[in-house]
Amino acid sequence: MTTYRRSIVWLRRDLRLHDNVALARAAAVSDEVVCAFVLDPELLRGPRVGAPIVGFFFSALAGLRASLREHGSDLALLEGDFAEELAALAKRVDAQAVFANEDYDPSAIARDAAVTKALGARGIAVQFSTDHVYMGADDVVQESGKIYTVFTPYRKRWTATHEREPRGPIATRTAIGKLASRATIGATRDVPEPAKYGHTMLPTYPLGDEATAKKALTAFIKAKIDTYGEHRNDPALDGTSHLSPHLRAGTISIRTCVAAAFDARANGDETQRKNADVWIAELAWRDFYQQLLKHVPRVADEPFLASGKKIAYIANDAEYAAWEEGRTGYPIVDAAMRQIATYGWMHNRLRMIVASFLTKHQLHDYREGERYFERQLADADLAANNGGWQWSASTGVDPQPYFRVFSPMLQGQNYDPEGTFVKAMLPALAKLPPKYVHAPWTLPPVLAADLGFELGRDYPEPIVDHAVARARALDTYGKALARVKS
Ligand code: FAD
Repeated sequence: MTTYRRSIVWLRRDLRLHDNVALARAAAVSDEVVCAFVLDPELLRGPRVGAPIVGFFFSALAGLRASLREHGSDLALLEGDFAEELAALAKRVDAQAVFANEDYDPSAIARDAAVTKALGARGIAVQFSTDHVYMGADDVVQESGKIYTVFTPYRKRWTATHEREPRGPIATRTAIGKLASRATIGATRDVPEPAKYGHTMLPTYPLGDEATAKKALTAFIKAKIDTYGEHRNDPALDGTSHLSPHLRAGTISIRTCVAAAFDARANGDETQRKNADVWIAELAWRDFYQQLLKHVPRVADEPFLASGKKIAYIANDAEYAAWEEGRTGYPIVDAAMRQIATYGWMHNRLRMIVASFLTKHQLHDYREGERYFERQLADADLAANNGGWQWSASTGVDPQPYFRVFSPMLQGQNYDPEGTFVKAMLPALAKLPPKYVHAPWTLPPVLAADLGFELGRDYPEPIVDHAVARARALDTYGKALARVKS
């Protein structure tokens, strides 16, 4: 076993000290470890990141630096070319190896290969570990070795693999004891403001670090997991964990989350077990889309299904703008779009509703919606975002069948029956009785006059008629399928 006097832990989407595989591996073979993060100005200023995720990552970096300082160490915060910066740091602190955790994003894979080559040429060893998924991309495959493209059998195998070999949290106490001193690391730059890269933060965007992630998980397990199955679809009940930005930045480990859920399950009655299972299934969906991205990287750019490439989309900029700005005239869609614009986060049920609306009611290419989410979500993650969009657009693995076109009225009535969520996001609808809140155009004129509500003045008329849009979507998707078969 090769051992090192000093190693660098190159942090990327794993901004934490606990349960971190790269940190544990580095410390196991090194006398001292230096934690580093490299800011990429091109990425930070580029079109594919937005203020919510930049703000979240920067708050996580600040929290990480504070904890490192509590341990007498520091975060080496670098900026620029990855290989050059890491090589310069290695020289400065006399490190012989770099340890990092894998990232399945195709651009990250290319970056890591280039960095490994460049550092190798300078005699610096680079080692990657699996950390950001519970099951690695090759851990859950069919008997034939092929990957799963249907979730239910994937999940069964995922659960069986967990039962055989649980990936428990990885202890990092010894590793923390090996953090290099602040003096060894020397002077390092401050965590910048998002504005430096052109991003304007709203005070409502989520922020977080390892300590807040831990609190969020504990609060979810204590107060929400037991009712997750019943409450998770109702945005007004807010029954989900909000851990997604933390899982994206790695301020909490997926292993810690899975272990907490299985603990809750083990200590619960039948109802509690069922509810915990629903949450565990969502964590497995996360792995499912990650393994897909790793093995089928083309999904990052194109539909998984051949028929998805044959859909005759309608590129209508005005209608697209109405969707993005929450002016479609369908309250559940518009309220959801206000939520993402205001909070840098959107409830899962709403993500499905707005993605269905854009791709089916508006027949817009899912990729434009996917890009908007990328810029607007603090949890923006290529695998999950692409998976969710392609599911909704019926172009992905195990997708929503194309003939299921969500009715925004029914979705609203089922999942926000009193209109509580819609009214909170769209105050113009606050006076409408629940019966009309998801279809304001059905409000009887006398009642509208009584309430002082005028469609078109206080709230837009529907941008497209639901029945017409549904028929058009079925026809367009049907033709796309026929083109593939012929
Ligand atoms: P919880 O319900 O508490 O779930 C716990 C965790 O499981 C989440 O934090 C997330 O990491 C994971 N998870 C839950 N549902 C899914 C799912 N369907 N697919 C993959 N992972 C899941 N999730 C992202 O993390 N980043 C994205 O960019 C993203 N984009 C999406 C786009 C669309 C169109 C759709 C339909 C879904 C998208 N999702 C994305 C999945 C899901 O909506 C969010 O993970 C969830 O809403 C986050 O809230 P939460 O942390 O309270 O989730």
